[in-house]
Amino acid sequence: MTDTHSRLLVISPHLDDAVFSCGAALAASPGAVVCTVFAGAPRDERVTEWDTQCGFADARDAMRTRRAEDAAALEVLGARAVHLHFLDAQYMEDDANTPAYIAASLLDVIHHHACDVVFIPLGLFHSDHALVHEASCIACVSDTSVTCIAYEDCLYRCMNGLVQRRIAELASQGIEATPLLEPVDAGTFQRCFETKQRAVQRYASQLRAFGPHGYDDVLALERFWTLRHV
Ligand SMILES: [Zn+2]
Repeated sequence: MTDTHSRLLVISPHLDDAVFSCGAALAASPGAVVCTVFAGAPRDERVTEWDTQCGFADARDAMRTRRAEDAAALEVLGARAVHLHFLDAQYMEDDANTPAYIAASLLDVIHHHACDVVFIPLGLFHSDHALVHEASCIACVSDTSVTCIAYEDCLYRCMNGLVQRRIAELASQGIEATPLLEPVDAGTFQRCFETKQRAVQRYASQLRAFGPHGYDDVLALERFWTLRHV
């Protein structure tokens, strides 16, 4: 998916999305960078329903553990973690996270790591995913020095009509989306998939909350779309 001279960046809304949706692709591209946008910890020790389901005492405990889980998962894949300071929607009381503000931080990461292939979420569901999709489009779809590839957000992509709606919306903005189909030999596919399975298990807190079959989609085929302004 990336040649030996390109440097891959995967933009992830939360601490798990990149590996859930692109883990096999990451396993095939050692040295990639994974930038998680909502990796910040709130100052207070609030308790949310999701964090409680994940087994955490409070938000700071949650983010500390989740960053460590992410680092461990990316180590399995041979990728590097970049954690931005933005707060997850469950910790926000206003809409201070704007697409333009996030896009500026993403551009810094793209330039600092000299990345020329960038994977971005289609942002199919959840306000955080939609926000990162919009910010990522601002940061890289028009940049001709970067190949921009969208990934289908695992756990959301099977919801009725969501992929179709996003592709139609991109078309209305003058952005062409073409399925990325690259032949991979069976041995490489198997190796990358097995590595992804091991990496996914590092997100133990999130898997606990999803339940035994709540994340089956993560272990299905990854799907990508090349985006281009026309
Ligand atoms: Zn997410």
